Amino acid sequence: MAKIELRNLAHSYGGNPSGPQDYALRRMDHVWEDGGAYALLGPSGCGKTTLLNIISGLVQPSEGEVVFDGQQVNTLPTERRNVAQVFQFPVLYDTMSVYDNLAFPLRNRGVSEDRIRERVEEIAAMLDLGDVLKRRAVNLGADAKQKISVGRGLVRSDVAAVLFDEPLTVIDPHLKWRLRRKLKEIHERLQLTLVYVTHDQTEALTFADRIVVMSEGEVVQLGTPQELFERPAHTFVGYFIGSPGMNFLDCGLDGDAAVVDGHRIPLSEEVLEAARQAEGRLEIGIRPEFLELTEDSGGVPAEVEFVEDRGTHRLIKTRVGDNELFVKLRDDQPLPAERARLRFPPEWTLLYANSRLVR
Ligand code: ATP
Repeated sequence: MAKIELRNLAHSYGGNPSGPQDYALRRMDHVWEDGGAYALLGPSGCGKTTLLNIISGLVQPSEGEVVFDGQQVNTLPTERRNVAQVFQFPVLYDTMSVYDNLAFPLRNRGVSEDRIRERVEEIAAMLDLGDVLKRRAVNLGADAKQKISVGRGLVRSDVAAVLFDEPLTVIDPHLKWRLRRKLKEIHERLQLTLVYVTHDQTEALTFADRIVVMSEGEVVQLGTPQELFERPAHTFVGYFIGSPGMNFLDCGLDGDAAVVDGHRIPLSEEVLEAARQAEGRLEIGIRPEFLELTEDSGGVPAEVEFVEDRGTHRLIKTRVGDNELFVKLRDDQPLPAERARLRFPPEWTLLYANSRLVR
């Protein structure tokens, strides 16, 4: 397995880019650790597949370097980069047995039949394919076929990285959850460097140790699920992660507080310290999980627009001036009246300047 470095990497499909709008990938510098599980997460068109294809060698970057374990691989074709890839749709030999499909990448490399049997049986057991090894792939359903594709990606232990491009798209929703957990277990057991493209936050959060959140060709944050949840580096990450996403309110600053619609919202020392350098459009951000209802007269007055019972919690939609704010309440907490007051715990109230976290 390899450490992957992206040095000053950027890509423009057209050539001769005249500005940021001409880049499918904006400049980035990252080190992805050997044995790490990384998810590339973002909406359609943000550049996930472009980045994956640059790592695999299907696309050559127009700027910067891709480095595997210290060696620049920009011009090395895919087959010489020693990466395994799993695509959205199954890629396998229909007429071969499941066993032969899984053995194929190993036979290609001259691995001994004894070692092949060991490895194929190990991977098949992990993916619950043990009972169908002798069957022809053609007779199996879409789920099983995609599991074989995943198995083919994982079967070699000598690859630099295994790259997945939305591999669970064709999988039945019930099985999806199990397979995600399986992939995580397999990663922990085999210590592979995995890069996994998805637009589904649940998939990214269950699978990866580190999530690379992309928006409009830019990596807006690379962090653990907890970092993305607690300290989104960009308003886009706040919106995109969470259900519903983070609340953002335009604000001004006055002394030790943010001011929203004439109401003062105290900020933490840490935010105030950093706020001295903040310029541009200012917003405060707070997750619905951290916003509280209070009886205290110092709370910000809000109108309650609706309450939705979500089984494990209740979601309250409130309004402060022109701002909509969501609050999540546990089932055992009392419901608010039509008019309520909101408390913004300073430790969870973050400040953003021109969409970036002030820190
Ligand atoms: P999706 O989830 O829909 O696959 P994505 O996040 O993987 O999207 P990319 O497919 O990498 O995004 O596309 C990023 C941008 O690059 C888009 O604007 C897309 O139109 C453009 N693009 C992708 N492939 C090419 C190509 N071969 N030639 C020109 N432009 C391309």
